[in-house]
Amino acid sequence: MVVLIRKTHLGLSALLLAAVAGMALILWQGSGSITTFSSLTGGEPSPIVVVDPGHGGEDGGAVAADGTVESGLNLQIAQRLNDLLRFLGQVTVMTRTEDVSIYSDGAETLHQKKVSDLKNRVALVNGLEDAVLVSIHQNSLPGSPKTHGAQVFYNGLEPAPALAATVQERLNQSINTGNGKTPKRISDSIYLTKNVTAPAIIVECGFLSNGEDTAHLQEPGYQLQLAVAVAAGYLSTEETP
Ligand SMILES: [Zn+2]
Repeated sequence: MVVLIRKTHLGLSALLLAAVAGMALILWQGSGSITTFSSLTGGEPSPIVVVDPGHGGEDGGAVAADGTVESGLNLQIAQRLNDLLRFLGQVTVMTRTEDVSIYSDGAETLHQKKVSDLKNRVALVNGLEDAVLVSIHQNSLPGSPKTHGAQVFYNGLEPAPALAATVQERLNQSINTGNGKTPKRISDSIYLTKNVTAPAIIVECGFLSNGEDTAHLQEPGYQLQLAVAVAAGYLSTEETP
């Protein structure tokens, strides 16, 4: 029996293999004393990772000059991250797996739908006994079209700051070369991360106000690089002596 594999699948399989090989290198390089995320949480079993593709449905989020919408990129990158984390043995939940807004019945205006959607995402995270939220977004700064690259933001619940630092380091090593960024505390005006009772990071993968970022963010290989950096950052924390 002949098994036919479509070219695109072959291409993606090769990418996935390269990604796994790359992650293995990242996990094993350095001091050799690599621990898992559980070390940050005091040796407890690994928490459930809530992978949250920001926006969706009527709420597209930021829009690039060429019409590329944030919510679609968030979903594609989040799905790659979710697949990688599961492949690596983590338990995950996604807040959405389609291009939808997850508002409850009764929400009518766009504002009501957005509020309801965010409340439902918070409820999902807070309904889990032991969770960590990884929210995927795209940035936009139309007043500064040259600004580009990926940046991580964190809420005030431990070990979010350390997690953000590790993920940022991986992103700086892979896609932010020559453009290293520093993780930042999320402003309290952000409803989702303010109201969750779990440590949370937001990964702003790139700038839709930057033409090059916008083009890269649509490439499967680049999306996978982002997912690998986030997954490797999540899974590996070099122990400080
Ligand atoms: Zn967003």
